[in-house]
Amino acid sequence: MVSRMKTLPGTGGVPVPESSRIPLSLYIHWPWCVRKCPYCDFNSRPVMGALPTETYVSLLLRDLESQLEYLRPGRRLETIYIGGGTPSLMAGKEIGTLLQGVRNLIEVSPECEISMEANPGTVESDSLIRYREAGVNRLSLGVQSFNDRELRILGRIHSADDARAAIRQAAAAFDNFNIDIMFGLPGETRESLAEDLREAIGSGSTHLSFYQLTIEEGTAFARRVPEGIPDPDTLAEMGDLVLSELARAGFRRYEVSGYAQEGRRCRHNLNYWGYGDYLAIGAGAHGKISDERGVFRYAQTGDPRRYMDNVRTLETPFQESRWVGRDELPFEFMLDGLRLTDGVTVQSFEERTGLGYSVIEPAVNEAVGEGLLTAESGRLVPTARGLDFLSDLQELFLP
Ligand code: SF4
Repeated sequence: MVSRMKTLPGTGGVPVPESSRIPLSLYIHWPWCVRKCPYCDFNSRPVMGALPTETYVSLLLRDLESQLEYLRPGRRLETIYIGGGTPSLMAGKEIGTLLQGVRNLIEVSPECEISMEANPGTVESDSLIRYREAGVNRLSLGVQSFNDRELRILGRIHSADDARAAIRQAAAAFDNFNIDIMFGLPGETRESLAEDLREAIGSGSTHLSFYQLTIEEGTAFARRVPEGIPDPDTLAEMGDLVLSELARAGFRRYEVSGYAQEGRRCRHNLNYWGYGDYLAIGAGAHGKISDERGVFRYAQTGDPRRYMDNVRTLETPFQESRWVGRDELPFEFMLDGLRLTDGVTVQSFEERTGLGYSVIEPAVNEAVGEGLLTAESGRLVPTARGLDFLSDLQELFLP
């Protein structure tokens, strides 16, 4: 375990005296995919030639080791998430090396949730069981649709049958797995969405993420918007269909796009949305650490080559970093916290920002007055109207 300690750069922000109680996660970013999907604005790029997996994994661990020098003693990991990109381009053995390396550097809670994303187009006959053996205990499959026509429009590298085969493997290897599905796709109807819902519900997964397609700046879809995207009324009906069908099947909505069976909410994402702390390693990864000096945010360079060079020399540890200012803290906290259907507690606001409730009380009162929020027994919960008009609600907490 690492014992040296360095001080985070900069002058500090609002002290967070209770920071040792804030749950700590680790996000690991894998930046490569087989090819780029036209709707995707994640930090991912197509593989060119041989993947430098071994080098990348060893540099991820070196990066983690150097970041641990900033962490106050006594903190341990409650969740780990390996995302991308397509981390399932790594073999089980490489994931095992990575996770063992993490354990050698920092204490990992015995109940640690260890999630990993997998693309059905990269899943081979025994690959998912190898990830399970390597220590991953929650899988997230990027299925997106069970309709081959829609998968082609989305530029996915897999067919609906590939997705079904990956789901069968996931169900055999994991007792906890998620499926990502998109809706509002070009040419999609309520009937074809109902088919996707039926297959997703019957898949044996414990968690479903249903995202509406959005056209993101800088993507191929933004340069040439595909025809046939459902109109706003149909999209609203589709959203209602997702909500009602999943509720009927025992998947409770707990976040804007997240639905889980009892006890199966994604703890890693809950820590993000609850303004927890997270270390971040890998190209383009973003992290947050709180200590007695304040809340510190940092981002790694998105370019994998430059990232690897940075870690090799340790001369430019972060591409960007800053202490979050007093004025920004309420909005930062509420931006994610209000995505949760159970909302946030006043206690966690005070513990995680270092600010008193009086700072947000006027905005809370305004939100309650507008019917966007309830504030009872120390808990702030968005109403159904608040979730529908989430950005209006969040904006009330802007400085
Ligand atoms: S596989 Fe996922 S991360 Fe990769 S380009 Fe497609 S959507 Fe983006």
